[in-house]
Amino acid sequence: MSMNTVDVTIIGGGPCGLFASFYAGLRGMSVRIIDSLPELGGQLTALYPEKYVFDMPGFPKVLAKDLARDLIEQGTQFEPELVLEETAQSIEQTENGYVITTASGKRLPTKTVIVSAGAGAFQPTKLGVEREDEMVGAGIHYGVRDKSVFKGKRLAIVGGGDSAFDWCLNLMDTADHMMLIHRRDVFRAHEDSVEKVKESRVEMKLWYAVKELHGNGSLTGVTVENTQTKETEHLECDHLIVNIGFKSSLGPLKDWGFEIVKNQIVVNDRYETNLPGVFAVGDVCSFDGKLKLIATGVGEAATAVCFAKTYLDPTAKLFPGHSSDMDL
Ligand SMILES: Cc1cc2nc3c(=O)[nH]c(=O)nc-3n(C[C@H](O)[C@H](O)[C@H](O)COP(=O)(O)OP(=O)(O)OC[C@H]3O[C@@H](n4cnc5c(N)ncnc54)[C@H](O)[C@@H]3O)c2cc1C
Repeated sequence: MSMNTVDVTIIGGGPCGLFASFYAGLRGMSVRIIDSLPELGGQLTALYPEKYVFDMPGFPKVLAKDLARDLIEQGTQFEPELVLEETAQSIEQTENGYVITTASGKRLPTKTVIVSAGAGAFQPTKLGVEREDEMVGAGIHYGVRDKSVFKGKRLAIVGGGDSAFDWCLNLMDTADHMMLIHRRDVFRAHEDSVEKVKESRVEMKLWYAVKELHGNGSLTGVTVENTQTKETEHLECDHLIVNIGFKSSLGPLKDWGFEIVKNQIVVNDRYETNLPGVFAVGDVCSFDGKLKLIATGVGEAATAVCFAKTYLDPTAKLFPGHSSDMDL
């Protein structure tokens, strides 16, 4: 399957890719966004939709899912072509730019590319126990999309990091009975969150690891094993949130010929990679002084788009003008 040539293809529909899409539309460029996830929003949607973000300019406090919703509205305002549930697999240079081939074999021609792939097409780390895949959607979760699913239910959360503790605090008023299962008594979470959970009604099951899942059609309990004594115990629960991290790998992008340092693509002060006309912004890019934050990443996206514009049309101005002067 082959498609039309666009001015810019954005790989990754997270906050930086979405803002790049908006900005490219603002500059009159045709846009295609490719994302391996079925939904736009990147980490905001996939990892922490129910958490508050406090460091967005103009928003003293905004839920990640609300921020994602507005970024999606803004980022699709100029009607970019969306290619979702497709992983950008390979790139080949052509006379007019590049052709990106997706995992399913779609060949997508483009004049320039902006890679905003975050930590790559991330996958949650799994427990690695039998029936785990079968129980996804039937009690096993790797993130929280909708808090109401846990209303009045027996919930266990596995993990000892910020996500596990944040979800304990976040779901305390929603779930009926709550447990935190962790293989040690040392945590990688903010002390404040740890203290709050310890003082709460959350039952702490420390030095335990989940070994078996039980239930026909939906989860009813788990067998945990004491990591020191190896004794096992049955715990009843309707839902289990697994928060033991995500595998972050650039995956196929590692073979595209980029200069890569510590899993990030090296860019110059135009956010251009070592491939001409291919830019990288957001969490995926690396330069001296890089901060992995949305506020800085969206600025990188705007700058990269302006340089992509002048790459395509050397007579175009780099400075886009003020949006407040535009009739949008
Ligand atoms: C729990 C948590 C809380 C956070 N809180 C804050 C906060 O308060 N403030 C803040 O500024 N930042 C916060 N961050 C960080 C912030 O979410 C990231 O900096 C931001 O999401 C980076 O945006 P991005 O667009 O670069 O990448 P991402 O949001 O990671 O999006 C990348 C997208 O690219 C897609 N992708 C990757 N590779 C491919 C491929 N080969 N083909 C197709 N698609 C691909 C992925 O599926 C993903 O959707 C937090 C992060 C976490 C995990």
